[in-house]
Amino acid sequence: MTDTHTITLIRGDGIGPEVADAVVAILAAARAPLSFEEVVVGREAEKREGDPLPPSALASLRRTRVGLKGPVGTPIGKGFQSVNVRLRQALELYANLRPVRNVPTVASRFEGVDLVIVRENTEDLYSGLEHVVVPGVVESLKIITEVASTRIARYAFEYARKHGRRRVTAIHKANIMKLSDGLFLDCFRRVAEGYPHIAADDRIVDAACMRLVMQPETFDVLLLENLYGDIVSDLAAGLVGGLGLVPGANIGKDAAIFEAVHGTAPDIAGSDRANPTALLMSAILMLRHLELAAVADRVEGALLAAFRDGIKTPDIGGTAGTRAFTRAVVERVGG
Ligand code: NAD
Repeated sequence: MTDTHTITLIRGDGIGPEVADAVVAILAAARAPLSFEEVVVGREAEKREGDPLPPSALASLRRTRVGLKGPVGTPIGKGFQSVNVRLRQALELYANLRPVRNVPTVASRFEGVDLVIVRENTEDLYSGLEHVVVPGVVESLKIITEVASTRIARYAFEYARKHGRRRVTAIHKANIMKLSDGLFLDCFRRVAEGYPHIAADDRIVDAACMRLVMQPETFDVLLLENLYGDIVSDLAAGLVGGLGLVPGANIGKDAAIFEAVHGTAPDIAGSDRANPTALLMSAILMLRHLELAAVADRVEGALLAAFRDGIKTPDIGGTAGTRAFTRAVVERVGG
C-alpha cells in the first residue's frame, strides 16, 4: 500500500482553475496516491485576508513541502508584488527547472529540441528593490551574490550529471555588466572545474537568443540568471509549439512547487480553450520528484496517446476544448 502524499494546491487565476481542475481529474483517474490541500493566493486572498500571500498558504507549503500551482496574475506597473516571486523567495525555491522538448505528434517549427533551462530564482532584478532617485529617475537594483550563483551552478551540473546531459552553457551579459554577470560567470566556471566530464561553455545572451532560434538542437542545459531565464524560457517554449506545452519546477532544499511556464492567459480564460498539458507535465515532474515513477509514466503515456489520436487543444493546431481534451486523457489513463 503506497502512502498518500498531501499536496498544496493553488488553482490560480485566469486559466489557472481550468487547467488545475483538468490536472487534478487526470491524476485522480490515474489513481495517483495524492490528496490536495487547497490554498488561495493573489487578488482573491488580498481581498479576503489583506495579503495576496497569506501566512496560512505559506504554512501549508511548509508543511506539505510540495505544491502544484496554476498561474497567478500580477498587477502591471502598480499593486502588490508578484506572489510567484514572493513564494520562490520565501521558501528559497532557488532553482527553476524548465525542460523544453518536442512533444511527439505536435507540429512545431523545429525538430530535435531537447534542452533544459535552469534559472536562478531568488535574486537579480527580481529582488524588488526599486526607488525614485529624483522625479523622472528610477533605480532598480540587480542583486547577484556569490552564494546564489554558486548554488544554482552546482544545481545545473548536478542535474546534468544525474540525467546524463553532456553540456552546461551559462548565458550572461558579462561584457556589459562586468561585476554582476561577471560574478555569476566566475562562480559558474569555478563549479564547472568540479565536473570535468561535463562540457561547460558560455554565451552572451543576445547571441544565445539568435542561436536558439536558428539551431536550438545544439543546446543542452542552459544556466541563466533570473531575468534572462524568464525571457529565454518563453522563447524556448515558442520553439516546440508554445506555452501550452512547457512545464516547470521550482526547487528548494525544503520544498518544491510545480507550475507551468505560462501565465494566466487572460485572452482565453473561461473559454474552454486552455491547454492543460503544461501543468500536467509539471505534475508529471512532481510525481517523479515524489518517486512515483510508475504513475508518472502512466499519465505521460495517456497524454501522448491522446495526442497520437489527434486530440489537441487549439493552441497546438487541434479543435478539442480543455474539457474534451481532459476527458480524452482520463479515458486513456485508467487501469
Ligand atoms: P501568458 O503566458 O498568460 O500568455 C501568453 C500567450 O500564451 C497568450 O496568448 C495566451 O493565450 C497563451 N497561452 C498561455 N498559456 C496557455 C495555455 N495553457 N494554453 C493555451 N494558450 C496559452 O502571458 P501574459 O499574458 O504575459 O501574462 C498574463 C498574466 O500571467 C500576468 O499577470 C503575469 O504576471 C502572469 N504570469 C504568471 C506566471 C506564474 O504564475 N508563474 C507566469 C507568467 C505570467
